[in-house]
Amino acid sequence: MAADGDIERTVEPSSAADAGSATAHDAIIDVRNLQTAFFTEKETIRAVDGISFDIDPGETVGIVGESGSGKSVTARSLMGLIESPGRVLRGSSVRYRDMDTVRTFADEFPKRTVDVADLEATYDAEELFASTAATPQEFGYADPASVPLVDVAAAGYTDELGLTSGNECVFVTDGSADSAAGIQRGFVEISRLSGEPQRKMRGGRIAMVFQDPLTSLNPVYTVGNQIKEALRQHQGIRGKAATQEAAELLEAVGIPDASRRVNEYPHQFSGGMRQRAVIAMALACEPEVLICDEPTTALDVTIQAQILDLLAEIQESRDVAIMFITHDMGVIADVSDRVNVMYAGEVVESADVVPLFEDPKHPYTRGLLESIPGHQSGKKLSTIEGSVPTPNEPATYCRFAPRCPKSFDECHEVHPVPIPVEADGEADHTAACLLYPDDVSTAEAVARHGGRSHGGDGE
Ligand code: SF4
Repeated sequence: MAADGDIERTVEPSSAADAGSATAHDAIIDVRNLQTAFFTEKETIRAVDGISFDIDPGETVGIVGESGSGKSVTARSLMGLIESPGRVLRGSSVRYRDMDTVRTFADEFPKRTVDVADLEATYDAEELFASTAATPQEFGYADPASVPLVDVAAAGYTDELGLTSGNECVFVTDGSADSAAGIQRGFVEISRLSGEPQRKMRGGRIAMVFQDPLTSLNPVYTVGNQIKEALRQHQGIRGKAATQEAAELLEAVGIPDASRRVNEYPHQFSGGMRQRAVIAMALACEPEVLICDEPTTALDVTIQAQILDLLAEIQESRDVAIMFITHDMGVIADVSDRVNVMYAGEVVESADVVPLFEDPKHPYTRGLLESIPGHQSGKKLSTIEGSVPTPNEPATYCRFAPRCPKSFDECHEVHPVPIPVEADGEADHTAACLLYPDDVSTAEAVARHGGRSHGGDGE
């Protein structure tokens, strides 16, 4: 096995802007410094390398990038589906902030609930933080004194600190853990879930639709039986009521003659109908968040449009948040409110969908847009030469540099972090590129990414 002893310490810092944006509004999912690595005998592959983003209730967040950029590993990390030799690394935090879920979990799993106000009353946060292997930059802070204890605990350092067993998953941050009904603030730490809490979260609160519906459906059970199993597991609905509900779900996703079709097997459904059935299964659990991993890639264009329309209808009628993963910029433009562009395990640009498409900043995003047929009428279709590198070492430079038409010397020496594209801009449009902020000199921009300011304009 590759040595992994200090991999958690070598991540690039999430920016202060990330830390700020993570709490700036009422996100239902708040991903901070997520790192997922696969350990092989030869190397450590850092498939997701310190990404941060959030998803608000009822919005669609797109994750786009080429194959190998880490999109699907991000989705699987959120669902707790990373298997050996991979794992989500200490220092990562994925927070589920729905308060109804926090209260329910605190009530059902009191031994796995940590009251941070109690911890803070007992321990000195700065002293405890100093005894971990973490750096304040990993949490988006420059000063150790400003790192909240809740961040240290949620990111998995509790064992190291000797505070608890390390199995906790619910963090209450207002000192009201004794009475679940009184809890006002807190979150469920998805990256620390296991056992029954994980089963309840996966499917019950967050559901996933995969690219190939055949891998999600069991060929030896009827479609109806598979939906009924989800209803039994997560809603406790059985018997005739479950059959009725399964047929209604199939009807809701546009399956004609649903009461008959509910008794058919997956091989009797067309590709588009199978994907609709998988979406019906996901909805059976009434999730607040739906993760769609390339759900239309295996379908022809007409069916693809129908499935996208269906997802839009579902979002409007059920108010679910959707994380939509695809390599297709056209699809992302159709479905997303906000977009995160991934490259080699990192988020390289993040913005609302209109500014991202009208005024893309990162050279990789520009390259992706210029390679869409018809995007620039009258111009020759561009390609991005080369392929996505395997991120098998800590990033000490820009991973896009070997393919970037704008690269300059510092790009091979300084690792860019996501920062606002304008010097005094908001954190709602960020780029991990040394050309930004673009309203300061390149030397100043490089310095803001953590590199030395040594003059010279690389443009
Ligand atoms: S940091 Fe340099 S190499 Fe990387 S995207 Fe920006 S200009 Fe290109």
